[in-house]
Amino acid sequence: MPKVSKKELQKLYKNNKVQLLISKFMSDTPDNLNPIYEPKHGFRYPIVDEIVGGTSSAEEFLEKLFEGGVLERKLYDKIIYCPSCSSANVSIHYTCPHCKSFDVKKSALVEHIKCGYIDTEDHFQEEGKLVCPRCRKELVNPDLDYHRAGIWCTCNQCSKSFDIPVPAHFCRECQNKFTFDEAIYKDIYSYNLTSDAKKEATLGWILIAPMMEFLDNLGFEVESPGFLNGKSGTSHMFDLTAVSAGKKRNTTAIDLATSTEGTVSEQSVIAMFAKIFDATPDKACLVAIPKMSESGRKLAALYKINLIEAEDQDAALEALKACVEK
Ligand SMILES: [Zn+2]
Ligand SMILES: [Zn+2]
Ligand SMILES: [Zn+2]
Repeated sequence: MPKVSKKELQKLYKNNKVQLLISKFMSDTPDNLNPIYEPKHGFRYPIVDEIVGGTSSAEEFLEKLFEGGVLERKLYDKIIYCPSCSSANVSIHYTCPHCKSFDVKKSALVEHIKCGYIDTEDHFQEEGKLVCPRCRKELVNPDLDYHRAGIWCTCNQCSKSFDIPVPAHFCRECQNKFTFDEAIYKDIYSYNLTSDAKKEATLGWILIAPMMEFLDNLGFEVESPGFLNGKSGTSHMFDLTAVSAGKKRNTTAIDLATSTEGTVSEQSVIAMFAKIFDATPDKACLVAIPKMSESGRKLAALYKINLIEAEDQDAALEALKACVEK
């Protein structure tokens, strides 16, 4: 569940970077955003890096969207960082529990089933065959003649033997040796849109990014959110403002209103009117997804707000073009 208020969530949806990421999720499936491993730096999310620029902020960005209920996440991997240089280029050393050396030889234990003799595999090896050192019988069939009875380690430094080595870490960047106690141990997630975010995205928040691109291609100067100063001195925020190129520089204010219930209420028309009454853009467009209520339609006509009702993105963009070029 989202840990932030609905209002903050709406602010998130109006953020261009968030919209870009959501549109990536909606278009370039694979469904999951999985991290990519790079030996030196650890895990990265290249798509997110591209959107936000830089690595540290990519994680912050994803965390914020997770907190906001836009993204859900699953534990994908754990990562170990060197406590002294923060590199992820870390290897694991299986060390001797007696002298801590990692110069440890790992062998398989073999048991000759018939006579019960157990030893490490190298003691059974004779000219490419397995021969029991106690009874001199050749072992041919696994499971019938012999079976593997686990692992046996021998320390090349202190010559002691043991079955369970102690894991330790070695930083390949700064040669630091450290234990699990000292290691920086972090969760790595794969992300996906929450079902709520998917619903919102298909509804229309996601429209702002393609609308910006579309208007930009038509030669408009586009801002999102766009601010217009009113006669009263108040600055008013619109989802988009588009200024036409050329001498006349007509300004169009565009707001987007969506509804999960099927019709957008007239409240969004009234809210937009309050802003344009003061800010006086040359034109005002209200994009209602999927459609406007009957009273909203009447109000929009009365307030001279161009109403765009559209079921999908293509229809909305077509109507928007007609509106701004009118
Ligand atoms: Zn290091
Ligand atoms: Zn040892
Ligand atoms: Zn034997």
